[in-house]
Formats: sequence, C-alpha cells, structure tokens
Amino acid sequence: MKIFTSRLLSDVALTHAFTCKKNNNLAFHVGDNEDHVISNHKALALSLKYSYNNLIHMKQIHSNKVVRVNTEYSFLTPIECDAIITNQTNTPLMVMTADCTPVLLYDKNTHAIAAVHAGRAGAFQNIIKNSIALMTEQFNSKSENIIAVLGPSICQHCYEVNEKIYEEAKHWGYSSSVKHKNNAFFLHVNQILMQQLQECGITKPHIEVMEHCTSCENETFFSYRADGGITGRQAGIIMLRP
Ligand SMILES: [Zn+2]
Repeated sequence: MKIFTSRLLSDVALTHAFTCKKNNNLAFHVGDNEDHVISNHKALALSLKYSYNNLIHMKQIHSNKVVRVNTEYSFLTPIECDAIITNQTNTPLMVMTADCTPVLLYDKNTHAIAAVHAGRAGAFQNIIKNSIALMTEQFNSKSENIIAVLGPSICQHCYEVNEKIYEEAKHWGYSSSVKHKNNAFFLHVNQILMQQLQECGITKPHIEVMEHCTSCENETFFSYRADGGITGRQAGIIMLRP
C-alpha cells in the first residue's frame, strides 16, 4: 500500500501518513459508494495499525474552527470544523484533501497532535494560528516544541485564481503570495501557511513542506482542479501510540 511519510515525523514515536489515489477515496460526500469508502478506510486502518472505529475525521467547512477531541468521538461522528487536536493515544486524527493542504502538528514535549485542513479560505482566516492557540490553551504546548508538516497540495504554478481572490488575499495581507503573470493570478497557499507557522513561533527546521503537487502529480493524487471538480479525497493521518 503506497503512502507518503514525513521526514520530521518519521523520527518520532507516532503513526502518521499521507495517502494518495492508490489508497482510494476516503470521503463520503463525493458521490462514491459508501461500502467502498468504508472498505478503503478499513484497509488503511489495517495497514497503519489503528482501529478504524477510533478514527476521528471532520465535516470540513473551509473555516478556522478548531475542536479538541477525545475518545467520545468516533468514526461515526465527524465534527463540523477544519482542525482537530488531541493528546490521547490510539486516537487517529484525519484531514481529507484534494488540492488543499493537509497540515499535521506534533508537540514533542506535551505529545499533543493536530490535523488541520488548510485550503485558501482556511489560510486566509489563519486556521494555523487557531490550531496552535488551542494546543497551547488545552495542553500547554509551546511553539518551539512543535513540528509542522505540510502534506501534498496544489502548487502555485497550478493554482490560478481570479482577480476577486487576489483582492481577497490583499485584504487579508497576503498579496505577496500571489503572482501576477500574463493577466492571470497564481496563489501560493503554502507560502501563507509557512509565514503563519513562523509568526506563531515555529522555527524553520521544525517545518517540513512535502514537495508533491496534487495537480502536477495528478496520476498519484486526487486533485479537485486537475480532475475537473469530480474526484475523491486523500488524507493526512496522525496518531499517538501508547
Ligand atoms: Zn503543480
């Protein structure tokens, strides 16, 4: 089973992965057969050695809402938000994407983790800052101990946006992350996320950007853009082991 892993998170004792088309679609809201989606989840759980019933995923709404989760949540109760945090073991957290950036956070000292859905809207509304703030509030996390990994997502070259979105980026203070070329605008979401992580106090050596573009590498990854809007979702997963 093909999965992608982070260099920084491979050095620590937790389970994590970024999936791709080889792991099939993991989302229920994209018109896929529900039984197939469940089997895809079961296969992934088996290969990463977690219990599929314990998996916590989200009904992602392109917000900056972050929720602390515990074992009361389960596979059958997805939460309406765009980031989840926990410090409990055996509680896999999942973010699903197809071009947006899946961000995994891990505090080496307090052993708190987060799975964050950061697309354009989440980046503009700084879901990164909210996630780290809630980790700090709930678990006393310190940003200098946090590792951040940006999983496969669409690159700036592939992410053409209209002028309205350029204006929006300007409004939020991110015009420098938009390239204007031949009457077209290209948004660099990961550059915004990198800036926000560093503004939160996470140091560059603790940030890893996985250099895979979902659109350039569309044979491997689900891409909302490259697949013409009808596509599945891959996932970023993180779990503390006992
Ligand atoms: Zn690309």
